[in-house]
Amino acid sequence: MPDIEPALRELVRVRAAGLCEYCRISERFTLAEHEIDRVIALKHGGQTVDGNLALCCAVCNRYKGSDIASIDPESGQLTPLFHPRVDRWDDHYRVRNGEIVALTAPGRLTVRLLRMNSAMRVRERQLMEDRLKDLKTLNAPETQSSSASYHPPAPLRAAPWAVTLCWSARQSQSA
Ligand SMILES: [Zn+2]
Repeated sequence: MPDIEPALRELVRVRAAGLCEYCRISERFTLAEHEIDRVIALKHGGQTVDGNLALCCAVCNRYKGSDIASIDPESGQLTPLFHPRVDRWDDHYRVRNGEIVALTAPGRLTVRLLRMNSAMRVRERQLMEDRLKDLKTLNAPETQSSSASYHPPAPLRAAPWAVTLCWSARQSQSA
């Protein structure tokens, strides 16, 4: 498989702001680095151009493989998967308490095929939301306590060690 040029990789990474373009998990909250996905795989005629590339977490990428379509259980029709370069995420999905709610047939198929709502992944998304809320609170001057000393964010609730470890490591890298 031809390699993807570093400049093209960087473009995809920056364009996605570090989020998986399927399940929206941030790279800051995953143990493995996000990968570059060819939305339409080479074997289906897809090309290595920015319009066919998406940032993809390792879990989504593993389940997606080279698939481009699946059978919609509601209509019985062969239906293309969600395409991050053609489709708008917000048109196909909502997030409710960490769970991804599909609004369309392509959204539905992609959630199922990529197992986006497995218990572990929903929990991971909830932890990410909690952590982002903590960071917002920490950074909002009007909510700071009167003490000038540093107060760490509230501990993650029942955090899997991997998420905690990964988040801490990335925080200290970027500090
Ligand atoms: Zn993902």
